[in-house]
Amino acid sequence: MVESQRANEIQFKGVVESRDDVKPLLIKPGDGVLVVRKIPRLFILLCPSGCGEEVILNLDPRVGPAWRFYKKRGKITLYPSVIRESGCYSHFIVWYEKIYWCDYEDLWGDNPDNVELDKKTLERLEEGKPLYYFDVAENISELPWEVLLSFRRHVRTGKAIEGFGKNRGIFKKK
Ligand SMILES: [Zn+2]
Repeated sequence: MVESQRANEIQFKGVVESRDDVKPLLIKPGDGVLVVRKIPRLFILLCPSGCGEEVILNLDPRVGPAWRFYKKRGKITLYPSVIRESGCYSHFIVWYEKIYWCDYEDLWGDNPDNVELDKKTLERLEEGKPLYYFDVAENISELPWEVLLSFRRHVRTGKAIEGFGKNRGIFKKK
């Protein structure tokens, strides 16, 4: 499952001047490089989810919305949290180089079983195609979070499998 591939710490790989020098330094999920030209410009991470994509955080408020990059007690803290709005849709907080994962299902706990919804989502799975929970939610006019949890219940009971990394949130009949 995806949890085993996730990093729980940032590994600071150094400071470079150019965006071009970043890539060779990013080897493992959670590796991060600071781009500084006179002032800190970017903090670039190899996504700690293990999806393989780079997460590029702007640190320069003149350019647009910017993260605060702190180095205190020799360790990196970022503010605010990082929410990926594409790809793996990860959400995490970096605090003294530790990564705190914000999984909506962990934060909000599970809903009570919703037999009627589970029946609907199972019917969709029976069609055999991979399904993104949000599309299904739109399709059956249900809340995305509840549809996600419903699919996860099917995973728990062995009826479905979920993709990981980029394919997180995509479910298929098992
Ligand atoms: Zn990722």
